[in-house]
Amino acid sequence: MTDPKSHSENPEARNFRGEGGGPGRVYIVKCEDYDQVEKKLRDLLEMMGGIGRFVKPGQRIILKPNLLLAARPEKAVTTHPAVVAAMGKIAREITPKIGLIDSPGSGYAYNRKALEKTYRTCGMQEAADEAGLELSYDESFETVSFPAGTLVKQFSIITPIRTCDGYINLCKMKTHGLTFMTGATKNIFGLIPGRAKVGYHGTMTTRELFAAMLLDLMALAPPKLTIMDAVIGMEGEGPSGGRPRRIGLLIASDDPLALDIVASEIMGLPQERNPLLTEAKKRNLHPSGLEDVDVIGVPKEQLRIEGFKLPSSFAKERFHLSALFAPVAKSFFTVDPRIIKTKCTACGACRDACPRDAITVDETAEIDKKKCIRCYCCHEMCAYNAVELHRSLFYRIMNKT
Ligand code: SF4
Ligand code: SF4
Repeated sequence: MTDPKSHSENPEARNFRGEGGGPGRVYIVKCEDYDQVEKKLRDLLEMMGGIGRFVKPGQRIILKPNLLLAARPEKAVTTHPAVVAAMGKIAREITPKIGLIDSPGSGYAYNRKALEKTYRTCGMQEAADEAGLELSYDESFETVSFPAGTLVKQFSIITPIRTCDGYINLCKMKTHGLTFMTGATKNIFGLIPGRAKVGYHGTMTTRELFAAMLLDLMALAPPKLTIMDAVIGMEGEGPSGGRPRRIGLLIASDDPLALDIVASEIMGLPQERNPLLTEAKKRNLHPSGLEDVDVIGVPKEQLRIEGFKLPSSFAKERFHLSALFAPVAKSFFTVDPRIIKTKCTACGACRDACPRDAITVDETAEIDKKKCIRCYCCHEMCAYNAVELHRSLFYRIMNKT
C-alpha cells in the first residue's frame, strides 16, 4: 500500500480521461425537468461530437447508474430512470448490446434478490423496458491486481465491468457525509461488489485515504463517458438522508476528475476542502483546478448555485487547533452518527454496512461510540433517515450552525 508509481506503468490502467480525448473539458446543458431529458441529453452529446465518439457498433456497453439503495426516484438518492432510459436509447442506436449494473451500497449483499429489489424500487425495470436494456444479475466478481496503484494494489471488481467493452458512468449530484460530495469518481465505488465495500471503509478510515483509494480505482477502471444527473440533486445530509434540490442541469465529460471539479464548484464546495481534489492535486493529476477545465455551455462565473447546503460533517475551519490542545479539542469537535429510535425499523442495513462492528440491532439499532470511526456508512445506508449526524455543541458554536 506504499511505493507510489505512475499509473501509466500498469497495463491494466487505461487512459484516466476515457477514450474521447479533450482533456479537462466539461459540457453542460440546462434541463429543468426529467420529461426533457432525452432531448437535452441528445443536445449534450451533440456538443461533444456525438455518441459515436464513445460507443462503437458491436461493442458491449454497460450503463452504471448510482443505485446506492432501494429508494424511489423522487427521493433523489439514485440516478433518475429517465436519464438511464435516455442514455440507453441513444447508445442502442449504435450497438444493441447495452446492459446495466450497479453494486448497491455496503449494507446490501451483492445477489439477485438485492439487485431485483433495487432495480424495481429505483425505476430501473421501467427504464430497461423502455430502452431495451439488459439488467444484469451477474453476482460474480474478479480480483484484479493493480501494482501501479498509489495506495491500493488490488481491487475486487464486479465481472460485468471487467468483461464489457466499456461503461458509461451515470452519476448523481449529491452531498456525502464522508467525502462531502458524490459525483463522477465516488460513483465508481459501486464497481466493488456488495459488502466487500465494508472492508475498504474499514481500511481507508479517513477522508483522505478514502479519496486516495477512489483515485486508484478510477485509474484502474475509468469510464468511457460520464453523465451527471443534476436535474434534481441532493443537498444537506446526503447521500441518502438529504433534501432533493432542483439544480436543472445535465453535465457530461470523458474526464471524471474535470467533471467533479465543476460539480464541486456548482455545489459551493471549495476545492481545498474537497478530499478528492486535494488528493488529485497531491498526485499532480491534471486538471487540478477549475482554471484547468474548459466548461462548455455555462460561463464558469455562473456555475455556483446560491445557498446549496453541504452536509453537517462539513465545516468551515474558523480556527486551528494547536498541537498541544488538538487531541482534547478534537473530541469536542465531532459529528457523530446517532440513531433516531422512533424512525428505526430494525432492518439491520446499518449494522451490515458498519466496518467496525459498532452497531447492534435489537428492537432498534444501537451504536457503540467507542468503536465508531465516523465513516458514516450507517447514515448512508439507512433508507428510513433514522441515522442523524449529530454535531457537538462546541462544533456548532465554532461553526455558527
Ligand atoms: S438505523 Fe434502523 S432503520 Fe436505519 S438502517 Fe439501522 S436498523 Fe435499519
Ligand atoms: S457506527 Fe461509526 S463506524 Fe459504524 S458505520 Fe456508523 S459511522 Fe461508520
